[in-house]
Amino acid sequence: MNEFELNETQRLAIYLVQREVLERAIRGDGLVASMEVLCRGIEQILEAQGGLCSILLLEEQHLRHCAAPSLPQPYCKAIDGVTIGERTGSCGTALFRREQVVVTDIATDPLWEDYRELALAHGLGACWSNPIIASDQTVLASFAIYYPEPRSPSDFHRFLIEAFSALGLLVIDHYRLAEQQTRLSGELQTINARLTTIMQVIPDEAFVLDHTGRYVDFFGNSSQLPVPPETLSTQSVSSLFEPQLAEQIMRVIETTLATKQMQVLEYEIYAEGRRIVFEGRTAVLTDSRHDAHRSHSGDQYVLWMARDITARKQAEDEATRLALFDVLTGLPNRRHAQEELEQLLEAVGRNHTLGAVIFLDIDDFKRINDSLGHDQGDSLLKQVADRLESSTRRSEMVARLGGDEFVVLLREPLTDADALVESVSATARRILGCFKEPLAAQGHAYNVSTSLGIALIDQPGLKTEDLLRKADAAMYAAKRLGGNRFTFFEESLQQEANRRLELERRMVQAIKDLHFSAWFQPQVRPDGAPFGAEVLLRWLDPEEGAIPPDEFIPIAERSGLIHQLQDIVLEQSCQMLSCLQEKNLLPPEFRLAINISPVQFKERTLTERLSFFIGRYGLNPERFTLEITEGLLMDQQQEAHQQMQCLRQQGFQFAIDDFGTGYSSLAYLHRLPVDQLKIDKSFVRELEEEDTGEAIVDSVIALSKNLNFEVVAEGVETRFQSDILCAKALSSLQGFFYARPMPGVELVDYLKKALRSAG
Ligand code: C2E
Ligand code: CA
Ligand code: CA
Repeated sequence: MNEFELNETQRLAIYLVQREVLERAIRGDGLVASMEVLCRGIEQILEAQGGLCSILLLEEQHLRHCAAPSLPQPYCKAIDGVTIGERTGSCGTALFRREQVVVTDIATDPLWEDYRELALAHGLGACWSNPIIASDQTVLASFAIYYPEPRSPSDFHRFLIEAFSALGLLVIDHYRLAEQQTRLSGELQTINARLTTIMQVIPDEAFVLDHTGRYVDFFGNSSQLPVPPETLSTQSVSSLFEPQLAEQIMRVIETTLATKQMQVLEYEIYAEGRRIVFEGRTAVLTDSRHDAHRSHSGDQYVLWMARDITARKQAEDEATRLALFDVLTGLPNRRHAQEELEQLLEAVGRNHTLGAVIFLDIDDFKRINDSLGHDQGDSLLKQVADRLESSTRRSEMVARLGGDEFVVLLREPLTDADALVESVSATARRILGCFKEPLAAQGHAYNVSTSLGIALIDQPGLKTEDLLRKADAAMYAAKRLGGNRFTFFEESLQQEANRRLELERRMVQAIKDLHFSAWFQPQVRPDGAPFGAEVLLRWLDPEEGAIPPDEFIPIAERSGLIHQLQDIVLEQSCQMLSCLQEKNLLPPEFRLAINISPVQFKERTLTERLSFFIGRYGLNPERFTLEITEGLLMDQQQEAHQQMQCLRQQGFQFAIDDFGTGYSSLAYLHRLPVDQLKIDKSFVRELEEEDTGEAIVDSVIALSKNLNFEVVAEGVETRFQSDILCAKALSSLQGFFYARPMPGVELVDYLKKALRSAG
């Protein structure tokens, strides 16, 4: 039977049922309500014959009651939940087989075996069931017509089953899709809400860009956008960024699309006068919606996550600055200088250019620092740094190595060593010159000078550490020559430096091993009577023999060991005086002359150590003359004078050693607490050579007389010298001609003899 064979009444009835079912479905009355309308509609059509309709849904192999408005409730309940399979009644079997099952007599059909009783008890005799199968082959439901008595379907019945199964499918599918949509959009909403939350917490801005660099979408905090977010879709990478950056960004987009791998780009933009550093990370955006168009449009999309990393960058920059720059002066620090020097050495090796390292140390900075206080010392260092920076060229790097040590690195586009020496000398002179003007501290002007040591980079293959050591050695040579000058490194300097280091190391052990001792060189009056003795330190090394004081004293001064050495001298001097006193060999005015190092004045240890030893041995300060040099008086005026004044009040006397070799005028010395001048050996030696020698000695003696200084001549070696000098008004004489420096025991013998012969 087809539609055209239906009579008008049937057609209208079917039409009305179909319409109502669809209307309800469209209205959204719900699946059950729509299906009940459908069942009732068919039952009405079949009213005369007493057919009953049922719709069962299939849920994971189980029957689920949907609509069967006229079937007995208990029956419906009983089959709700039945697992489908062979012999599970007409519906269960139809759904299981995915085909129509027509049972004309429930009482006899084996398919109903298990449910027969149930069906018969509820007055059901026949059941024809049709599965409703979706286009994706999912079995959704069964549509069945029951009759109370056994019966076969007519053509009309078959037509109804087909037609309403199709309608059922439409409606169930409609609801199924609606449900799916609700579920999906619910899920989408959840995902969206999560994404929104994530984007709120993540400091990133997310952009979707197409492969041409056009902005497609944006998520995040729009306040950071350079343009209003609604206009972003009209923008592209090339319209928002400078050409160079835009090109970089485009390359990253292309690489992302080509490799399908995340790319990272750090880039800077300037906004409102502020530098903002971003880190961009990319991913290919798989977008099914866009993919659908892709075949014809060719569009591809990239997700660009941009994070503001300005703060992190600044912290990193600051850390780099701290690691590479000196905090006080802002100059590059030692590490930076070493790295720079390494690069310079590489460049020299590569390009056949030349260079130099200038090591710079402020003369006497420790004294300045101690006397001014560290704040002012720091201020001076900053001024020094400024001067250095302003006196060097761009190609020269000034760095602070620490303390008052600086280094200047020179890169010279030269290949000729002579030209290099010339150029470096010019730089060194320029640096020395920039300290001609005094520096300011505490409202006073301070004259500061520097010593420069230069190591040339005139061949490839030199090492950073070696160069710094060489420049350092040269700098010390400049210091030894009096400072305020520059000196080039020479091999001999290195040997000296090594020797100094070795002696310093050995000195520590030698002090413990008692290899140091005080010797005494007698001083006599012009009539030959004992006047006193100069105490001279001796280092007798068991292997090397005597190491001269001229060699080890400067090392001891630099390393600080001088204090221990001076303690040895003071202690043994005191022992000597006590011993002579005990033996009754101490003439009434006999004095020991002790050499005092400027370091002891600077570090203010002198007064304390002197009173310690004198107190310990119960001696009178008047037994001691302290020998100092002119240099000390010139250099450390204020503090030295105060200490001298103080010691002199206690009874110590002061002698100016090596008088005549410095620059002090007698008139100046008169104002100082000085008692004695020791005419330097060089003048005594000149007595024999020139007439002028005697004239100098004479004038010193004449002036000293007026100013009330005693005069001592040292280094008297010959009878000739002795004869000339003894005729003059000198307080005493000292030299090999009278006696060589001797150990303590020998001095005791010497004095015994001297006193015996004096009577
Ligand atoms: P100085 O204070 O000028 O000591 C005199 C030096 O001249 C001594 O050298 C002495 O041995 C030497 N001398 C003595 N008579 C003659 C002579 O007739 N002809 C010649 N050519 N030389 C003579 P020495 O002992 O080698 O000491 C050298 C320098 O070492 C001293 O020069 C002094 O500056 C320093 N020194 C020695 N002992 C000490 C000390 O205990 N403390 C300090 N701070 N310095 C010391
Ligand atoms: Ca001396
Ligand atoms: Ca001397």
